[in-house]
Amino acid sequence: MPSMAPELTFTTFQEIDEIYSTLNKTFRSGKTKPIAFRKVQILQLAYLVQDNLERFKEAFAIDLGRPPLEASFLELDSTISDCKIAYDRVDKWARTEKAPFNITFAAFRPVIRKEPKGVVLSISPFNYPVWLALGPVIGAIAAGNCVVLKPSELSPAISGLIAELIPKYMDNDVVRVVLGAIPETSKLMEYQWGHVLYTGNGRVGRIIGVAAAKTLSPISLELGGKSPVVIDPKCDFKIAARRIMWGKCVNAGQTCVAPDYILIPRSSEDAFIRALKDVHDEFYPSGATTTPDISHIINLAHFHRLKNLLDSTSGTIAFGGQTDESRKFIAPTVVKGVKGDDSLMSDEIFGPILPVVPMDDVDAAIAYINAHDHPLALYCFSPNAAFKNKVFDNTQSGSAVANDVLLHCAADGLPFGGIGPSGSGYHTQGFTFDMFTHLRSSIDSPGWIDAILGARFPPYTPKKIASLGYFATKLPPRPRVSANGHGLVERRNNTKWLLLVLSLTVVGIGYTRGADVGEWVRWVKGLIGV
Ligand code: NAD
Repeated sequence: MPSMAPELTFTTFQEIDEIYSTLNKTFRSGKTKPIAFRKVQILQLAYLVQDNLERFKEAFAIDLGRPPLEASFLELDSTISDCKIAYDRVDKWARTEKAPFNITFAAFRPVIRKEPKGVVLSISPFNYPVWLALGPVIGAIAAGNCVVLKPSELSPAISGLIAELIPKYMDNDVVRVVLGAIPETSKLMEYQWGHVLYTGNGRVGRIIGVAAAKTLSPISLELGGKSPVVIDPKCDFKIAARRIMWGKCVNAGQTCVAPDYILIPRSSEDAFIRALKDVHDEFYPSGATTTPDISHIINLAHFHRLKNLLDSTSGTIAFGGQTDESRKFIAPTVVKGVKGDDSLMSDEIFGPILPVVPMDDVDAAIAYINAHDHPLALYCFSPNAAFKNKVFDNTQSGSAVANDVLLHCAADGLPFGGIGPSGSGYHTQGFTFDMFTHLRSSIDSPGWIDAILGARFPPYTPKKIASLGYFATKLPPRPRVSANGHGLVERRNNTKWLLLVLSLTVVGIGYTRGADVGEWVRWVKGLIGV
C-alpha cells in the first residue's frame, strides 16, 4: 500500500524573487554557455532519475496509482533516454550554422548563432509529472539557459521528490524548482522570461498567454483537446481495438493525446465495440475493478467531473461504468450510440471513458472533426492509403497518426506540438532545444565590399541607382489564367531551352558541313546570352 501524499511546502514570494535574481546573475556570468558544462548538467539529470527509480515509482503510485511498468515505460525510461540523446547531440544542435550560399551575400559570411534565450520558465502538468517536468529542463540546459521549473501541485509526491533531488544533482545557480499553485505561478508570470513553456489545459493556457504578453515574454503552449479516432471498417478490428484501449486505459486516460472518441460507420459500431470488450477482458482477466494495472484519477475534483460526464450522457454504457470514490477509480468505460452534441463530446475527457460516435461515412467524420477545435492528435485506423490520405489531407491536427496511438510522442526526431487551440510551439528533444534557442543572425562585412556596394551611400546619383539595379530580383514569368479560367497557374519558361536545342541543332548541322565551329559557338553564345 503506497504511503500518503506529502504536504508540499510552497516557495515563498521572497524566495521566488531571490531565485529569479540568482539565475539572471548566473546567466549573465556566462557559466551556462560552454557545451561541456551543459553536458555535465544533462548527465546529472539522467543520474537523478536513474539513481532514484524506486522512489519515483513509489511517488507515481501515491499520486496516480500508476503501475510500475507504466511509470517506467511512459516516463522514467524516456526521460533517461532524452538525456542521453541531448548529451550525444548537443554539440551538433548548438553548432553555428552557415546561411545557404547566395553569391550576393557570400562575402559577408552570414551565419546563424544558436544562442540561449536567458532564464526560462517551464510550468508543467500533473499527468506526466516526470517526463513533462524534466524534459523541458533537459532542452533548456542543452540550449545554454538557466531554468525555473514549476511542477504541478496536483502531483505532490512527484513534485516534492523533484524539488528534493534537483538541488542534490544539479547546479543550484542554474536550475531551480518553484513549488506552488495559482498564486506562485501568477507571481512567476510577473517577471520577464527568455521563454515560457506552459504545458497544461487551454483554459489556463489563455491566462498564461495573457500574462506573458504583459512582459513580452515569448511563449510556447502545449495544450490538449479532444483527439478523435477515425475507423475504416476495413481495418483489423482486433489490432485497432487493442491499441485504442491501451491508449485510453494507460494512466487512466489522463494523457494529452489519449484517443478521446471514436468515429465509425453506423453499420460497424457493434462489431467494433465487441472487439473493444474482448480486448478489455484480455487486459483485465479478473475484472477491471480489482486489477492493479489501472491508475486512478488524480484527485476528487477530476473524479467527480468524470462521474458527472458518465451520469449525464445520453449514450448507452456498453461496458464498464463502475466508479469508486474512495479510490478515485473509474473503470474503463465504452459508451455507444453517442451523438455529436452529447455531454461527453463538449470537452477533453481526460479519463478512461471512450465514447463511440456512429457516423454515416468518412465524409461525415471529417466534417465533424473540422467543425471543432483542431485536435492535438488525429488517429486513423485503416489499411488503405487513400482512406488515410483523405482523412489527413482534409483536416488539421497537431499530429496525424495511422494505425497506432501515443507512440508518435516518443518517436525520435518527430516534433510534438498542437495547432490552434491544441497549442503552439514544438517540444521533445531537439525541438525543445530549438524552442529555448535564439537564432542570432550574424554577418561580418569586409572593407572591400564597399567597392561593390558603395552605391548604397548618399548622394543617390543616377549612376548609383543604375548600378544597384544589378541586385534587383528577377521574377519567374507572371502566372497565367488556367485553362478552366478558375485560377492562376505557373507559366513555364521554355524559351531558353528551346533556343539551346535550336542552337545545338544549328551547330550540329554546321559541324557536319565543315563550318568554323568556334565561330558557331560564339554565335550561339551570343544568341542565348551566356
Ligand atoms: P495542472 O492542473 O497540473 O496545471 C498545469 C500547471 O498550471 C500547473 O503547474 C498549475 O500549477 C498551473 N496552473 C493551474 N491553474 C493555474 C492558473 N489559474 N494560473 C496559473 N497557473 C495555473 O494540469 P492540467 O492543466 O489539468 O493538465 C492536463 C491538461 O494538460 C490536459 O488538457 C492535457 O491534454 C494537457 N497536456 C498537454 C500536453 C502537451 O504536451 N500538449 C502534455 C500533457 C498534458
